[in-house]
Amino acid sequence: MSAADRTRVPGSARAEPPLLVGPGTVFTPHRRLEHAGVLVAGGRIRALGPYSDLRRRARAARTLGAEHAVILPGLINAHTHLYSALARGMPVPGEPAANFVQILERLWWRLDKVLERDDHETSALVGLIDCVRCGVTTIVDHHASPYACVGSLAALRRAVERVGVRAALCYEVSDRDGAAAARAGIEENLRLARALRRHPSDRVVAMFGIHALFTVSDRTLGECVEAARAEGLGLHLHVAEDGADQRYNVRRHGLRVVERLHRFGALGPRTLAAHCVHVDRREIGLLARTDTLVAHNPESNMGNAVGFAPVFDLLDRGVTVGLGTDGYTADVLREMKVASLIQRHAAADPRRGWAEARAIALDGTARLASRIFGARLGVLAPGAPADLVVFDYPSPTPLRAANLFGHLQFGLDARHIVHVVAGGRVLMRHRRLQTVDEGAVMERAREHAARLWQRVRRGPPR
Ligand SMILES: [Zn+2]
Repeated sequence: MSAADRTRVPGSARAEPPLLVGPGTVFTPHRRLEHAGVLVAGGRIRALGPYSDLRRRARAARTLGAEHAVILPGLINAHTHLYSALARGMPVPGEPAANFVQILERLWWRLDKVLERDDHETSALVGLIDCVRCGVTTIVDHHASPYACVGSLAALRRAVERVGVRAALCYEVSDRDGAAAARAGIEENLRLARALRRHPSDRVVAMFGIHALFTVSDRTLGECVEAARAEGLGLHLHVAEDGADQRYNVRRHGLRVVERLHRFGALGPRTLAAHCVHVDRREIGLLARTDTLVAHNPESNMGNAVGFAPVFDLLDRGVTVGLGTDGYTADVLREMKVASLIQRHAAADPRRGWAEARAIALDGTARLASRIFGARLGVLAPGAPADLVVFDYPSPTPLRAANLFGHLQFGLDARHIVHVVAGGRVLMRHRRLQTVDEGAVMERAREHAARLWQRVRRGPPR
């Protein structure tokens, strides 16, 4: 291995000439640099500073600029589902769902059962293209396809590596489709982890997925925790997304969801608990004490009418909370806007929500992803992986580090994104995807979706 190889980071572009991004306003995100640039080489940020200095230093560098360039760290989605990408606009058979469990039964568990092997990569490519268009360079995904489980994560991995974002992948183990499906889910998680050990990826890391505690037995939960620990994998699961999860666990196991996780040794700094909408003070204490990560998904929670997470209490207790979309959208910038609105609206207090949403969007999500990926993500700093987004944003008002979040709330939007770079590789240039033929993917996706929707209408195979 050469010295240059040793300095490469996961997700880095191999043997490409340096890239100079700018000139523009660079946000690290807490510091603003004017007339600045970002010099990238070997997948990492080599330097940030005055553009003219960097230009002199790297005359041979490729350049990437925009007229009114605003350069931010690549955005991160802390919880999503690429497998839902082909459901966009799909008619849902039967009576409208009246509650969260019915939404799962009539929509998502109907869809996941009829996903076929061929669908995974196409669905993932659609979801990943959406991510890039929204400036998202890192996602934490949670996959389900009980009748097409074997090899599903390998298909997702191929799509991720092709598009070029970073992804933490896992398969959601559940007993809802029987013991054999649960066993297959455990094996699928382990298969990806072992494949990554044999052939490391510069984009993909493995986690161990569990659906949610209202669909796993004690035996299955114990097996998952044991298998994840043996492979050194962090857990990723839905926690108390709806009150039904709590009611089931109290009735069946005499424990609240987070208490049951704690009893099985499933909490900890590498566990990602998505939602935590219906957790009480004691459970928040357990999440804090074990340093468990939480993904907040306000749009999805509103869409499913399940309530909203107690983010004030979670943050007060020092829990690391990141922002996810739960597959509801790929648009993390939109999610940031909703995250601040929902808390203010729910508290009926215009003072609430702003600082909390800012803390989650700018810091919590970066900390969460950095821990999962073992790399410094969500910041622009020398030595950090070169994941960044260039907006063409002719701001009509002063734009400073102190009011960046105000511009993220009311101005900066996915429509301003022109270039996206991950690991030093240009994924989108002048709004054109560089790593994948977007038109061909969408054409294939429409064919897959039409067949998938027919199968959803007919119902599961067995
Ligand atoms: Zn989810």
